[in-house]
Amino acid sequence: MTQPRFSSASTHTMPDSTWRDDTRLTHLGRDPASHAGAVNIPVYRSSTFIWPDTSTLEDYQHQGADPNYRGHIYGRNGNPTTAAFEDAVAQLEGGFRGLIMPSGLAAIVGAVLAVAQAGDHILVTDNCYWHARQVFDQVLPRYGIDTTYFAPMLGEGIGALIRPNTRLVYAEAPGSSTFEVQDIPALARVAHAHGALLMLDNTWATPLFFKAFSHGVDISIHAATKYLVGHSDAMLGVIVTTEALYAQVRGAVRHLGYIASADDAYLGLRGLRTLSVRLRQHERSALAVARWLQQRPEVAQVLHPALPECPGHDVFKRDFLGSTGLFGFVLKPIPQHLAKTFLESLRLFAMGASWGGFESLIRQQIPPRDHPSAAVAPGLLFRLHVGLEAVEDLLADLQQGLEHLPSPCKT
Ligand SMILES: *Cc1c(COP(=O)(O)O)cnc(C)c1O
Repeated sequence: MTQPRFSSASTHTMPDSTWRDDTRLTHLGRDPASHAGAVNIPVYRSSTFIWPDTSTLEDYQHQGADPNYRGHIYGRNGNPTTAAFEDAVAQLEGGFRGLIMPSGLAAIVGAVLAVAQAGDHILVTDNCYWHARQVFDQVLPRYGIDTTYFAPMLGEGIGALIRPNTRLVYAEAPGSSTFEVQDIPALARVAHAHGALLMLDNTWATPLFFKAFSHGVDISIHAATKYLVGHSDAMLGVIVTTEALYAQVRGAVRHLGYIASADDAYLGLRGLRTLSVRLRQHERSALAVARWLQQRPEVAQVLHPALPECPGHDVFKRDFLGSTGLFGFVLKPIPQHLAKTFLESLRLFAMGASWGGFESLIRQQIPPRDHPSAAVAPGLLFRLHVGLEAVEDLLADLQQGLEHLPSPCKT
């Protein structure tokens, strides 16, 4: 096989298989020998790559679909920085290869369009990300693709909902608004027995805390905007697939024109270097805040996968390697205007969409559901992202916020 020219991303340090994840995170995607010794892979800001000879284009035309071909020919097909990010995420998660995308939602749309076609049916967990739901409800029907939502804890019971044309089962574990943890191996068994694929939104756990491909997932997507970038300063997504699906998914997403910038890929790679230390801190602080909230008289329920009362906690303990900073809690019923008072009184928990950055955030959640979750207590549901601030300061902030609520709800 002809060696591709300018294949500067072809020799990323392959982590030693005995290395633990903390060690792998310091090496994944790096290739100093091909980049003047630079510790970090540089930002290749290039729409165009000059071909040194006519055979470069011929190589690409013959081998461009080969996953091992790493020549760079045109920016929309990637560059050494984006390739390094794709490889790093895929290797950490245990998948075959990654595909960088401009946002997490683009990763969802691109991956679904890559495997589903007109006439297909998709089974989607009812607790999925709200904007993914908009895609299933508003966009896909126009292309002849039907969706049925299943109750998140249904497990192997999804078998009864599978139709002859069910192509895909779509999971998000835990769901990022009500936090039920689905049994991914059970969903994979049933999907595969019926010739369907299992796709997972693995944004919450990240490739560090849930190894999607050893639990039967065929396609994993990440909103890298959240923990992978980790600093609330870039939009980024990534799709990771099995070897069997990679060529099909890559072909589709590249034909659809999806790519992300080298600058954002660089931020994703930089975020990966500290992913483990950040997540351990988010995990510790979020658990402390969750346990503190459980003791408060104003709080009806805390929905955190690492606490026994969360639906799917057993699955969490069996399959996940850690928990992160995002969880929910329910305030005992209060008038909506008091929810506003509570939210606006907080100083460290800012109101905002997104999560996964260094800073704490809060928002009220009103999950649209086909199957109202019996598991969520009556009251007002909030979602917290516990950031990297000192946990004592976060608890003091929540305490002063809760003190704005009148005593009737303190019973
Ligand atoms: C934010 C988010 C997405 C979408 O990611 P964007 O980068 O914002 O497009 C998808 N899934 C989950 C669970 C998310 O929280």
